[in-house]
Amino acid sequence: MTYDINKIREDFPILSRSVYGKPLVYLDNGATTQKPRCVVEAMVDEYYNVNANVHRGVHFLSQQATDLHEASRETVRRFINARSISEVVFTRGTTESINLLAFSFGEAFVGEGDEIVVSTMEHHSNIVPWQLLCQRKGAKLRVIPMTDEGRLCMDEYEKLLNPRTRIVCCAHVSNVMGTVNPVEDIIRIAHAHDVPVLIDGAQSTPHFSVDMQALDCDFFAFSGHKVYAPTGVGVLYGKEEWLDKLPPYQGGGDMIKTVSFERTTFNALPYKFEAGTPDYVATHALARALDYVSAIGMDNIFQHEQSLTRYARQQMSQIEGMKFFGPSDDAVISFQVGDIHHLDMGTLLDRLGIAVRTGHHCAEPLMRRLGIEGTCRASFALYNTTEEVDALVAGIKRVAMMF
Ligand code: PMP
Repeated sequence: MTYDINKIREDFPILSRSVYGKPLVYLDNGATTQKPRCVVEAMVDEYYNVNANVHRGVHFLSQQATDLHEASRETVRRFINARSISEVVFTRGTTESINLLAFSFGEAFVGEGDEIVVSTMEHHSNIVPWQLLCQRKGAKLRVIPMTDEGRLCMDEYEKLLNPRTRIVCCAHVSNVMGTVNPVEDIIRIAHAHDVPVLIDGAQSTPHFSVDMQALDCDFFAFSGHKVYAPTGVGVLYGKEEWLDKLPPYQGGGDMIKTVSFERTTFNALPYKFEAGTPDYVATHALARALDYVSAIGMDNIFQHEQSLTRYARQQMSQIEGMKFFGPSDDAVISFQVGDIHHLDMGTLLDRLGIAVRTGHHCAEPLMRRLGIEGTCRASFALYNTTEEVDALVAGIKRVAMMF
């Protein structure tokens, strides 16, 4: 298939708007992606024509909304190649998925003196929930170190694992450096020590296909809004044999089988972890977003973004004073130019219509390891073009000239 970028861009109305009288160049996709028409229309259509609370309803609309919601679960299952829909828990996003796991896993399996392994390059949402758990239980956080190039020290990783290690939690792709971590090795080594692994897939799911059965991770979290779906919906994948052993996270409607004041029994998987009314409009829209990227083809998206990232690194490397942070294996480039503060760079690029992200990117421990306060980050999506990369490069040069 040829990658028809013009046709793709037409699917995203926001891309044709301007800011400060300049055409928008949106390069903040690592934070969130724009939404294609089909996703927004699915939401509008559901609110206009279907809306009713899911499950429990005998009436027509409730059944139709439930069908859409549950069909979406199957779409997610297929997209990540989980074995069964029992393994697909809907959440509000990666952050909630990890909090759910840290709580439930922690309740069942973590005690005083136990150890949780995370990596240097984790997003705060894959550090703080584990830290809170450690504080509750008297457990210890252990950290996989990183090389100056932004890669995990795998020898050191293996040495961290011991009989007190309860779980390993690691990003698939770094949201700051675009490092694609060797998660297959991380999982294989952990399993050799009988330790389960959570992969934070927030930055991998939008860029290349992920396969739960091939990866063999025990848990996997991602956010809908980073993969062209609305905000407020995400997924926790967990192997059924693990989810079965975990206690519920929140209590409420839907997660129960029977309730009395003496005793409550819990619903089957995955509902045991889904208390309260789910954002069923968002789950449906998530399915439409996954259909959308699947129709383009994750491999085609990967190729497009790879060539864009390589082109951008190559063009940017010719700018005087350019310094990159990390290898940008995937669609993320963190940089600084000379001693221009990242905030100044971001603010001035914005005036040129170019949206990049600046700051610590919710990875303060990583910033400390890199010895910096923050970076400028350009991150690409399936709709970005080489012309937009050229605009970024020209913009950076213009800002650099002002200093
Ligand atoms: N992990 C990584 C690697 C991320 O990039 C992000 C979002 N920046 C998150 C977790 C948190 O995702 P959310 O805010 O959608 O819960």
